[in-house]
Amino acid sequence: LPYHTAVVSHIAVDIGGTLAKLVYFSREPYSREPGGRLNFINFETNRIDDCIEFMNQLKMKQQTLNGSKPEELCVIATGGGAYKFYDRIRDVLGVDVLREDEMECLIIGLDFFITEIPREVFTYSETHLMRFEDQRSDIYPYLLVNIGSGVSMIKVSGPRAYERVGGTSLGGGTLWGLLSLLTGAGSFDEMLDLAERGNNAKVDMLVGDIYGTDYGKIGLKSSTIASSFGKVFRIKQEAEKGTECQSTDPTSVDDRPPPAADSPAAPFSSADVSRSLLYAISNNIGQIAYLQSEKHSLSTIYFGGSFIRGHRQTMNTLSYAIKFWSKGEKKAYFLRHEGYLGAVGAFLKRQP
Ligand code: ADP
Repeated sequence: LPYHTAVVSHIAVDIGGTLAKLVYFSREPYSREPGGRLNFINFETNRIDDCIEFMNQLKMKQQTLNGSKPEELCVIATGGGAYKFYDRIRDVLGVDVLREDEMECLIIGLDFFITEIPREVFTYSETHLMRFEDQRSDIYPYLLVNIGSGVSMIKVSGPRAYERVGGTSLGGGTLWGLLSLLTGAGSFDEMLDLAERGNNAKVDMLVGDIYGTDYGKIGLKSSTIASSFGKVFRIKQEAEKGTECQSTDPTSVDDRPPPAADSPAAPFSSADVSRSLLYAISNNIGQIAYLQSEKHSLSTIYFGGSFIRGHRQTMNTLSYAIKFWSKGEKKAYFLRHEGYLGAVGAFLKRQP
């Protein structure tokens, strides 16, 4: 909560399948400066009551500090939760809740970030890392690839001219769900930390594993992934055989479980599995994004959504996929506030 005396007049919340993203506008009451500040915070959607309580605290603080009436607070909601939790939000806050269309909010938020905010949009590569773009006004057409729980690809050809051209259900929720089954990670950020440390070559079948070298004729390096997780079955079998050979009692072999992941005897770790799945999901999205951009003649591709979370390998994979497949003709862009496009858009539609 803002600990100062700032006046909060507007709250926008984008409630998705996994996260509720909240943006609120605060202004110092006695400041002579125009404008104010945008504040960002998110909550897990399955703890939506915490999010609603946070909004309620913001509202109550206004009433005690500034004597404002509840109806002076403007609450805007978007995303699926704007429908699912509509009554609950309205009842707790005791104010009218305005609802806005999710896709439209995404685009309005993104347009604002591209055109108005310095050091917001950047390109990423392993060599130059983050390189910020200047704000620009000639932004259309472009493709927005929003990677949340699922993935939406939206062709944008003008300020309110957009069309959802595709998507995939293999998105952020897939990584989150599968890694919770495959690793001991207790949070999404822990999974990203694991991925950061892992070596996917322990589980992925690489071109080099098949050819023993690269396959230069068709442009495949020996480190190119031929099959995500393609080595796992064989390696597990070999590891089990290894323990079989060491055993003195052949009858007990079948009952013994294979070495647990992360035990010293395991041929690969949770970190390796995390890295591999992060690559698999990101490569797949990168490839579909490229094909969509090709189909719709778009050379500018923005990647948004909380899945990205500023993670190096995710951004590098997406960026590389676009560069590789388009032979350098198309470019991938990222945003510092990647998860907040919808919430900012909802806010702007009713801006103070
Ligand atoms: P949605 O609107 O569908 O909730 P988001 O853009 O908020 O989508 O992205 C949700 C995805 O972001 C998750 O599926 C996961 O991959 C990733 N993520 C980032 N931070 C978290 C977190 N704290 N908890 C769960 N998932 C997270």
